[in-house]
Amino acid sequence: SKQLGKNRCQFYSQDMQEAARLRVQLEAELRVAIERRQFVLYYQPIIDAGSGCVSGAEALVRWQHPSRGLVAPDEFIAIAEDTGMILPIGAWVLDEALRQANEWLEQGLSPLRMAVNVSGVQFREQGLLDLIAQASRKSGFDRIELVLEITESVLMQSSDATEALMREIGQLGVRYSLDDFGTGYSSLSYLKRFPVDQVKIDRSFVSDCLEDKNDALLVEAIINMAHSLGLKVTAEGVETESQREFLCARNCDYLQGYLVSKPLPADAFRLFALGRRAG
Ligand code: C2E
Ligand code: CA
Ligand code: CA
Ligand code: CA
Repeated sequence: SKQLGKNRCQFYSQDMQEAARLRVQLEAELRVAIERRQFVLYYQPIIDAGSGCVSGAEALVRWQHPSRGLVAPDEFIAIAEDTGMILPIGAWVLDEALRQANEWLEQGLSPLRMAVNVSGVQFREQGLLDLIAQASRKSGFDRIELVLEITESVLMQSSDATEALMREIGQLGVRYSLDDFGTGYSSLSYLKRFPVDQVKIDRSFVSDCLEDKNDALLVEAIINMAHSLGLKVTAEGVETESQREFLCARNCDYLQGYLVSKPLPADAFRLFALGRRAG
């Protein structure tokens, strides 16, 4: 058994070496990806729960890897954050999402709310303000409402400087949505301190709200509390008709999830939104 234990250790350390090797390789490939602009945005529709009309899109980045194919963000965002590469990637995402929203307007789509995920690393850099100020000079945020989706961890590690930066960016007309809401542990106090306009109920609560009484109560409580603070609520990860009914009955404002649509390439999103427009 001692022998077995030793083998197992070797086995583990080989696994770890393999993981470390893969990471170093991904990191090198990610640098190339930035130079060669191997990223693409998919857009997931967010609908108005009452009317079913498309009210906005969430931009979700993918890496078009020359041999691995389309790589999901969960596989490279963390590395990008650790290495600072999230700064050029995040800048590109913001620019591209706004460029796309303007193109859709020219193609006859109704004004949209464009939600972009922003990492905490980006929020600790003053460059974010310049980036958004520049975008605002280009197209303004009157016809396209820019929503920055931030997670609680951004606020958790935040200083007074983060709060000031959020407010300065907010003055340009940008809105904030607190993503993965409910998964952290002091979400409520953040809503009071930071200029947040919306919350997104995490998929984990939505997916179990019909089977798990506690999740149902939590979803209900989040919606009521957010509304009493004057915030709009989006439910993410809505996959079934009964979840939709549950959320609508509790006055959830917006829905997002596979029931409505998976994230789509830009042109497929445009066609989807045209088919579901207001009026
Ligand atoms: P997120 O912001 O919570 O985004 C929602 C994720 O849930 C997306 O995964 C989306 O495809 C997936 N999803 C949407 N509806 C459903 C559903 O009904 N069922 C299920 N099972 N999943 C659903 P995706 O695109 O793989 O993104 C994963 C995460 O990567 C995002 O989670 C976000 O944290 C991060 N991410 C994506 N794009 C960016 C970006 O441009 N910048 C940064 N910093 N992070 C990003
Ligand atoms: Ca998000
Ligand atoms: Ca989320
Ligand atoms: Ca998430």
